Amino acid sequence: MFSKASIDRFNQLETPFYYYDLNLLQQTVTECQNAASAYGYHVHYALKANFNTRVLQTVQAAGMGADCVSGNEVKAAIAHGFDKGKVVFAGVGKSDREINAALDADIFCFNVESVQELLVINDLAGAKGKTARVAIRINPNVDAHTHHYITTGLEENKFGINTWQLEDVVFTLRNCANLEFTGIHFHVGSQITNLDVFKKLCEKVNELHNWFEHQNMPIKVLNVGGGLGVDYYNPDENPVCDFESYFKIFADNLTVKEGQEVHFELGRALVAQSASLISRVLYVKNGQKKNFLVLDAGMTELIRPMLYQAYHHIENLTKQELVSNATINYDVVGPICESTDCFRTDLALPESHRGDLIAIRTAGAYGEVMASGYNLRDRVQSVYLEQEQLQVSEI
Ligand SMILES: *Cc1c(COP(=O)(O)O)cnc(C)c1O
Repeated sequence: MFSKASIDRFNQLETPFYYYDLNLLQQTVTECQNAASAYGYHVHYALKANFNTRVLQTVQAAGMGADCVSGNEVKAAIAHGFDKGKVVFAGVGKSDREINAALDADIFCFNVESVQELLVINDLAGAKGKTARVAIRINPNVDAHTHHYITTGLEENKFGINTWQLEDVVFTLRNCANLEFTGIHFHVGSQITNLDVFKKLCEKVNELHNWFEHQNMPIKVLNVGGGLGVDYYNPDENPVCDFESYFKIFADNLTVKEGQEVHFELGRALVAQSASLISRVLYVKNGQKKNFLVLDAGMTELIRPMLYQAYHHIENLTKQELVSNATINYDVVGPICESTDCFRTDLALPESHRGDLIAIRTAGAYGEVMASGYNLRDRVQSVYLEQEQLQVSEI
């Protein structure tokens, strides 16, 4: 829900822009930290969900660590004040340059995704006279029951090391003098709303935990990744995830021994609800079979609907107060020269007009960060609500 004052203010601004509610972000991060610390758990924020400076500052201030998937994310995390002892670097294709930069930065750990990568990190660390801390990303073959484009923990996915390769991994770790084994890492997918998936993950982690200890490979850190989903359908009813139930699944099902740490890597769940993409209707096209609302935002600002068939709640802010219940079905489309540039087909909205403000909700995760310059579009702007103040970014 947007207040009348916010909508009045939006009306004076150029669209499209991302609108960040930093108060909600702050509240979400705090609730997550409180729920995690009740069990002594550590949360690393997955920067790839949103690396907007104001977002990073807010998350960092809460004391979270950083989960990075590129050398530049490692740099951004450190530049925004994240403790380098709480920075982890994951990713299936780390380049030598990225590995070297992370070694120079003395990050906490590399989450390693293949035997070959272990050998490369060992060589690069050796050349610097350093020891690299490594965790093994294992593919637990757990079905995340999410969209197949965002599932990552199945054997057919490119991510992680499959269990039949683990003997080779242990052999390699024993023979690499410049590697220090810290533990095991998992990440089964994103936008997971069925908490049973995490229960199954715990069972796999327990099995593999035992296996490593049998090999005489003691584990210091159990990193269970991220993936907690948000409610895209009811952003006003569920603005903050139920972090307590999420962490309790792990507390009830994960075996943790004396002295071991449990790490989480949440992205979407921390940031998704705190932003909306605000756009205007440029044109209304009434056809014989279809009516189109052509917005001034498209896949260059928010690509999730086009990339993953993702659902976002869409509302006409200008007609928010309308008393009549009459609606018209619209295909809500962007201005980009691609037929797939469509946010939703057959969406029932109040009769809409040129100039109406449209909010596309729950756009804080994998939104602004995936913006592109295709069609030589302007870079999308951001507007921030902090305390009661609305601030327009300067670029
Ligand atoms: C993307 C990613 C995450 C965060 O996923 P969310 O679904 O946004 O919570 C965590 N860990 C790794 C390794 C990732 O690639």
